[in-house]
Amino acid sequence: MMAAVFKSLMKTKLACHSVRAACVRKLNLLECQSKALLDSNGVAIQKFRVVENVEEARCLTQNFKVDEYVIKAQIRAGGRGLGRFDNGFKSGVHLTKDPCDVVEIVGKMLGHRLITKQTPKEGILVKKVMVAESVNIVRETYICILMDRGFSGPVIIASSAGGTDIESVAEKTPDLIKTIPVDIMEGVTDSMAKDVAEFLLFEGNLKAKATEQIKKLWKLFQSVDALQMEINPFVETDKGDVISVDAKLQFDDNAQFRQRDIFSLEDVSETDPREVEAAKAKLNYIPMSGNIGCLVNGAGLAMATMDIIKLHGGEPANFLDVGGGVQEDQVFKAFQILTSDPNVKAILVNVFGGIVNCATIANGIVNASLNLKLNVPLIVRLEGTNVNEAKQILSTSGLDIMSASDLEEAAQKAVSCLK
Ligand code: GDP
Ligand code: MG
Repeated sequence: MMAAVFKSLMKTKLACHSVRAACVRKLNLLECQSKALLDSNGVAIQKFRVVENVEEARCLTQNFKVDEYVIKAQIRAGGRGLGRFDNGFKSGVHLTKDPCDVVEIVGKMLGHRLITKQTPKEGILVKKVMVAESVNIVRETYICILMDRGFSGPVIIASSAGGTDIESVAEKTPDLIKTIPVDIMEGVTDSMAKDVAEFLLFEGNLKAKATEQIKKLWKLFQSVDALQMEINPFVETDKGDVISVDAKLQFDDNAQFRQRDIFSLEDVSETDPREVEAAKAKLNYIPMSGNIGCLVNGAGLAMATMDIIKLHGGEPANFLDVGGGVQEDQVFKAFQILTSDPNVKAILVNVFGGIVNCATIANGIVNASLNLKLNVPLIVRLEGTNVNEAKQILSTSGLDIMSASDLEEAAQKAVSCLK
């Protein structure tokens, strides 16, 4: 659902190209990891186990006996129920009463790539499978708590029409979705939780149970510094229980220092290695599909740079914010990351030196140009602190650099040298 909301933004705003970049890299857990957090905070979930090979699945069916199993591929993306595997096997969510089927299904999932609406087109490799006790679902609802910039705080998004079709609900019947701002100091009050439970059409006993669950979800959201906690579906079962059947949690990177246990669960094996390298060097880098590599200081300037490139008919290859206190070795690392991308056909450096000393950037550029195989045009626009010394460093370096006096000229030069 968040993806659907996002797509509509992309259509309307140029800057979303950049905003998307700024949004992508967030710690995102597997369902089984999120569910363990839910469980330890009193949120009702199904009993589950996790297997990593077929042998484990075989043993599991001997010790974990339930009337019906639900088998779910564990990837850091949703839409699994409607997905398909690269081996042709359909759906990342299966139900069966037969323990032999569990083993067979696990075998078809593990080691294959699951392709869903939310994965890259080549899918994501499945390394873990959840085997849980299935519940009989009477109704599927949707609840998500997230930090919303528009509301400058947390909101609850709720819909009684939850389940795998929530994206078309958002598109076709947005009236079925309600957004309720939460005062961060007050939190989700009893009456607010009750209102949400009512809006989700829980009645009688179930209303009290849903209210309790919503309050527990809020408590967890706060205590783990989550940015998003999406429960879809949040269900009513035939036994009269209210259960979180699926959970997607994302966390605030700024809280890493106090959420070490959670961040230690991060798996970077499916992340672009350039992103991993950049994160290690404290650079904010997101690869994109264009061919102009950007090196900029400050997220706002990075976004503006990407927009101006697009305005002049070019496509940025990345979002790269080297930050305010950037050092020469980080500039070198940034160049290393840019030049390792075969799609980068020109590099645009746009630095406005406030805290940053332009001479540091200039030395970094010269060092990188001499030590890395830089065989693409390099356009540099420097302004601000110590810019004259920086210009001197570049002009006496003997390097073939196209300098630009402002952002407009820099973008024009970058785009036209690729024509
Ligand atoms: P997603 O497709 O990645 O969002 O995976 P979900 O865990 O949300 O599962 C997709 C759908 O499978 C749910 O919306 C349910 O309709 C169904 N499903 C998941 N778990 C169970 C279960 O335990 N019992 C039943 N009957 N259906 C389930
Ligand atoms: Mg789901």
